[in-house]
Amino acid sequence: MELFYRSTRNDSVKVTASQAILKGLADDGGLFVPERIPVLDRSLKELSDMSYGEVAYEVMKLFLTDFTPEELKACIANAYDSKFDTTEIAPLVKADGAYFLELFHGATIAFKDMALSILPHLMTTSAKKNNIKNDIVILTATSGDTGKAALAGFADVKGTKIIVFYPKDGVSPIQEKQMVTQKGDNTYVVGIKGNFDDAQTGVKNIFGNKELAKVMDEAGYQFSSANSINIGRLVPQIVYYIYSYVKLLANEEITDGEKINVVVPTGNFGNILAAYYAKNMGLPIAKLICASNENKVLYDFFSTGVYDRNREFKLTSSPSMDILISSNLERLIYRIAGESAEANKALMTDLKEKGRYEITPSMREELKDFYGNYASEQETADTIESIYENTGYVIDTHTAVAAAVYRKYREGGDGTKTVIASTASPFKFTRSVMDAIDKDKYDSMTDFELVDELSRIANVTVPQAIEDIRTAPILHTRVCDRTEMETVVKNILKIGSEQ
Ligand SMILES: *Cc1c(COP(=O)(O)O)cnc(C)c1O
Repeated sequence: MELFYRSTRNDSVKVTASQAILKGLADDGGLFVPERIPVLDRSLKELSDMSYGEVAYEVMKLFLTDFTPEELKACIANAYDSKFDTTEIAPLVKADGAYFLELFHGATIAFKDMALSILPHLMTTSAKKNNIKNDIVILTATSGDTGKAALAGFADVKGTKIIVFYPKDGVSPIQEKQMVTQKGDNTYVVGIKGNFDDAQTGVKNIFGNKELAKVMDEAGYQFSSANSINIGRLVPQIVYYIYSYVKLLANEEITDGEKINVVVPTGNFGNILAAYYAKNMGLPIAKLICASNENKVLYDFFSTGVYDRNREFKLTSSPSMDILISSNLERLIYRIAGESAEANKALMTDLKEKGRYEITPSMREELKDFYGNYASEQETADTIESIYENTGYVIDTHTAVAAAVYRKYREGGDGTKTVIASTASPFKFTRSVMDAIDKDKYDSMTDFELVDELSRIANVTVPQAIEDIRTAPILHTRVCDRTEMETVVKNILKIGSEQ
């Protein structure tokens, strides 16, 4: 049965999956959502014998119904290959009373690779299906990890260009180095003087500029998005929750149908929304545990029903979660508002105009499967240290936020088996990780000395992604004000009157 996509802000919009992937964001500023969440048509037992790619096919075919089986299988085969350093793609590690689902074995060692290694293939296939003649310009705001993963995915992909905006002073040194050394004739990396929310708002404004879209079209270009607002990001992320469950089943860690909890270190709410979709597809998930860092807008939202971004923005050791406007929450709001575009739009207007909104008691009732909490900087560091001391396993700062929140949750007495989404390799945030383990000892070492030391104490080889940037030349030096983003885009594309 064909599945169409609707906008969260306008009931009359109805597009195919490939059209939704191409557009990224709906014209009305809303996000595309499937008109219903499909239910798994294979048993968990059947899925438990499958490889990652096979599970991916069984999940994604239900959402991307206008892709032929051959098209979808080709996209999957091109994505989950030797770019990953393990054939398991997303291995599970048992430690600290939970299962860490390692989502960082792809090219850029963060979980964004799980979706961004397939998105370029979904995008070019979608362009072909829809007879698109324009070049696709991928415009992306990044809090550090999406940027590199998208650059790696789209570099030298024919018919595309990619422009990434990142907060100049808001990413880790390794994240920045990874981005500014990116090769590829079609890649552009721009630092902005502002934070991630500024970058994301700037990108959304460019998307919403109808005049610019016209000029673009005349020049043979059209925009799309590699941010997690794109449904082509969300759908591949559902896969690993299902995969982790069926692997636990295959390994006899759980019985068929046994419920598990999942804990997700959250920023833009994309990853945990994928877990929510997995649950709605029939995966036996009990609690969806949403872990925030000190930018705890979501914790406050789950505790009070009020979303309020009017607060100080904090730079933390988990920069990919330093976000005050969690874009993907809109998809959840739409759903708990009874799929009412009108109700959702009113709340999003409040968010835009007042920086806050409040949901109704009946909407709050729909959130009872979520548990929100947060970890302070100190708690995050303590968790890295104690898991290392107790088990020898080293986790990154984002994963540590999740592990710290899970420890708090567990004190309530729920012994349900739990999967923690492990979203980055500790090698990506080496300085913060090593400081947490022994600040005095490691303070004087350089970033790359720390990399080697981490490799030694964790007994893990240095990932290729880190080896690659040790000596790589810097290829991107553009920096701009947050108000100049549109001008920069025009200059890069050589369009408009400004240049
Ligand atoms: C992006 C990112 C997150 C946050 O994921 P969302 O889908 O934005 O909630 C968490 N950890 C790491 C390492 C990330 O790169």
